[in-house]
Amino acid sequence: MVNLNLLDEQKVNYRTALQITKLHYQQSELMLALHYAETPTPSTIGYFTSTYAKLVQIEFDLQKLWKFTEDSKFHRLVGYIPHCLCSAMDNDERVGYTDTRIYNERCPIHCPETAFVEQESK
Ligand SMILES: [Zn+2]
Repeated sequence: MVNLNLLDEQKVNYRTALQITKLHYQQSELMLALHYAETPTPSTIGYFTSTYAKLVQIEFDLQKLWKFTEDSKFHRLVGYIPHCLCSAMDNDERVGYTDTRIYNERCPIHCPETAFVEQESK
């Protein structure tokens, strides 16, 4: 459910509130699709990274519709995307302060170039 108090605070009109609701629904659909997808592999990772890019774009679109500055330092996606191996806790601390995030090099979504490289066994 959309934050009704925030709609009033931000003076969002009905038409825009409907657009916001649709984007929240799309966000949920994409998260579900990732959640139910098989574990990423080098041949399927493109689907995951492109879906992640859509989620990032929705964050920007929502900021605009909510009349906030479009700014990735307020995005709270890293650590919450299905199959993401990055730390949500480490990244939550950064929300609002910086757009720099801490990534796990084994995360297939944020570090697809290193995630599938075989680790040397000792
Ligand atoms: Zn990640």
